[in-house]
Amino acid sequence: MKKTNVKTPCARDLPFLPVKGIWKTPSFPWLIPQRFIDKINTFDFNDPIFAQFVPSILEKKKIKGFLQDPLHEKKYQTGVLIQKYHHRALLCCSASCAMHCRFCFRKNQPKISTHNFDKELQRIEENRSLSEIILSGGDPLMLPDTIFQQLLQNLDNIPHITRIRIHTRMPLAHPERISAQFLKILTKSQKQLIVVLHTNHAQELDEAIFSSMHAIASLGIPIFSQSVLLRGVNDTVEDLKTLCFQLIDHGIIPYYLHQLDKAEGTHHFQVSKSKGKKIMQELQAELPGYALFRYVQDISGKRSKTALYP
Ligand SMILES: *Cc1c(COP(=O)(O)O)cnc(C)c1O
Ligand code: SF4
Repeated sequence: MKKTNVKTPCARDLPFLPVKGIWKTPSFPWLIPQRFIDKINTFDFNDPIFAQFVPSILEKKKIKGFLQDPLHEKKYQTGVLIQKYHHRALLCCSASCAMHCRFCFRKNQPKISTHNFDKELQRIEENRSLSEIILSGGDPLMLPDTIFQQLLQNLDNIPHITRIRIHTRMPLAHPERISAQFLKILTKSQKQLIVVLHTNHAQELDEAIFSSMHAIASLGIPIFSQSVLLRGVNDTVEDLKTLCFQLIDHGIIPYYLHQLDKAEGTHHFQVSKSKGKKIMQELQAELPGYALFRYVQDISGKRSKTALYP
């Protein structure tokens, strides 16, 4: 693939690229791991990695319907615990991420950073209808090993919790985060663990990332993936087909394709639902049944994600 005349820069150089439309000083700061920069093929907004991580001046536009808290999560939140659905709750156990995705629906929200989950754990303990805790954030793998281990241990002590799901995008930036020590922590958990890897484009993936996922899978932990449908990043049948094939070839089962949550400053990533459904229809004709993720939307007030296709 074509490289532009720009030599592979580091994060510091990116704001000064001679590319039209870069927002040099965004309110949600730049954060692009070098690993991603190395995978950029063309240094412009047509590149799926560049477009996901380089701030665009389009983010400044205020568009009706795009909100600070598009999912009204505050309504369902106690500390960093969010329960919207039956039997499962989200513990946003880390406010930070290894990267700043420009389409992130939490980008405008205050970062609650804590390593003390006593209040949330007590809530979980009191709520016997819960059977699954979803570790989310931010990115739960941003927690230091000691804190992560402590959290798993604390959850081990709550009998009605039988599953712990870990939602992460971290291995794409730092596959070495899945260290021998980290794997050991996972093996110590008494609960059924499930990992959901957040990836939007095949260009983000490589062998080191797949090996880190294999190491987790070899512990008997199922691995799923989820993606967000993003204009100019992965809104073609070809892009999503390549992504799904790469994933299933490495034992990762595509789970959800999310309709973009309408967060302020993300409107330029929006794909219409009718276009999304059309892409899904064509994808279905290309993929084995188990490789087709469900195209869903998070609609505030509903008891589950809303299926758009199938
Ligand atoms: C998406 C989400 C979940 C998980 O939903 P599943 O359909 O089980 O994947 C749980 N809690 C909240 C608040 C969510 O937004
Ligand atoms: S990794 Fe997830 S939570 Fe973090 S910035 Fe990206 S989309 Fe947002």
